[in-house]
Amino acid sequence: MQYFNHHTHTIFCDGNSEPEEYVKKALELDFHTLGFSGHAPVPFENNFSIKDEKLEEYAGTVRKLKDKYSGEINIFISLEIDFIPGITHPFDYFVERAGLDYTIGGVHLVKNPGNKLWFIDGKDYTVYDRGLQTLFGGNIRKAVEAYWQQIIGMVATQKPDVIAHIDKIGMHNRGRYFSEEESWYKDIVWKVLKSVKENGNIIEVNTRGLYKGRSDKTFPSPFLLEQILHLQIPVTLSSDAHKPEELDGYFDETLKMLDDIGFKDLIYFSKEGWKKQKITF
Ligand SMILES: [Zn+2]
Ligand SMILES: [Zn+2]
Repeated sequence: MQYFNHHTHTIFCDGNSEPEEYVKKALELDFHTLGFSGHAPVPFENNFSIKDEKLEEYAGTVRKLKDKYSGEINIFISLEIDFIPGITHPFDYFVERAGLDYTIGGVHLVKNPGNKLWFIDGKDYTVYDRGLQTLFGGNIRKAVEAYWQQIIGMVATQKPDVIAHIDKIGMHNRGRYFSEEESWYKDIVWKVLKSVKENGNIIEVNTRGLYKGRSDKTFPSPFLLEQILHLQIPVTLSSDAHKPEELDGYFDETLKMLDDIGFKDLIYFSKEGWKKQKITF
């Protein structure tokens, strides 16, 4: 099947190349669709997001590529927008300001009861470990539940088209602090997925953990994917590429896994909105 990818990061945020390099690579890989989703600006110092004053330039650059390559590949503009209640801008603010075609919502920073932020992503698991200790007193259940509550809040109030790496909270866990089989974890995951179903969001199957060697599972994990299939929540496939060569990272293996679980199709964005594509080999 012809591939697509809606989740990519360029030099405008924490990716390594100019947007056009991703277009060239996508053409080489015979993609039908490529979406750009730089990290939306956040109102605090950081080294991962697009700088607020660069947002219009980012949007303008992608828009030019959209025209330049029209007829060859469908290009869309998006942002991966962080949701931190009381801190980040509403998603609509970015939709209007940057003229987004669709939105991807994600949680990378979890707010603790004292309004301090726990960074749960990145390559260094000791940052996760330290945050768990200092911001949640080492109480993994409290910390993980705070993450999922933030996802619920995002789904209910921001209505992102796509939810990024929905169970990223498990990445640095690696079986050390909790298991997906524990009843409290199962309960909260089920509650979140029911809310996703009610709100009509799409869940992405994100392969980044696999090709970066930071996880032995996709986000969401097969455990969640079975429930997602049961609830008939639409899924898309993305690699969360930070380099052009990561555009199709682990796609073949992940499609096989999705087929084994029982998924029949994926969702992708088009000029006419979201469409289904059959999973084929
Ligand atoms: Zn992300
Ligand atoms: Zn991302």
